[in-house]
Amino acid sequence: MSDLEDLYQATILDHKKSPQNFRVLDTPNRQAEGHNPLCGDKLNLYLDVDQENRIRDISFQGEGCAISTASASLMTQAIKGKTQTEVEEIFARFHKLVTTEIGQQVDIPDLGKLAVFSGVREYPMRVKCATLAWHTLRAALADRGETAVTE
Ligand code: ZN
Repeated sequence: MSDLEDLYQATILDHKKSPQNFRVLDTPNRQAEGHNPLCGDKLNLYLDVDQENRIRDISFQGEGCAISTASASLMTQAIKGKTQTEVEEIFARFHKLVTTEIGQQVDIPDLGKLAVFSGVREYPMRVKCATLAWHTLRAALADRGETAVTE
């Protein structure tokens, strides 16, 4: 059962129990909804983005499994204060971390706590849980007013 232990690391369980930035912003200037029908995860993301496309503040609310909630929580911590360009770079590395084929080496620097999701790639259904918040974030930054769906 060590695989499952890897997947549900203490950090993930902590963030499921007490998610960070779990609230509605008073005056968001971007927001988006995300839905992962495979698992039933749903979230709303609220952003306050300044004129240089830097994320001044970010929050989320929603209901979902441990992976999706922890991923949203850790994502809000990781990207607060970052520019949209920096966010895209972090997302690209995170996406590689959770989608690199099993058996292949993943060596992705500078992901900090987001590295706890490295076990997710062994569970393809869970990849959608882990990336839901990120897809929703990109929808919010693109400001298209769409619901981000993982399918
Ligand atoms: Zn899920």
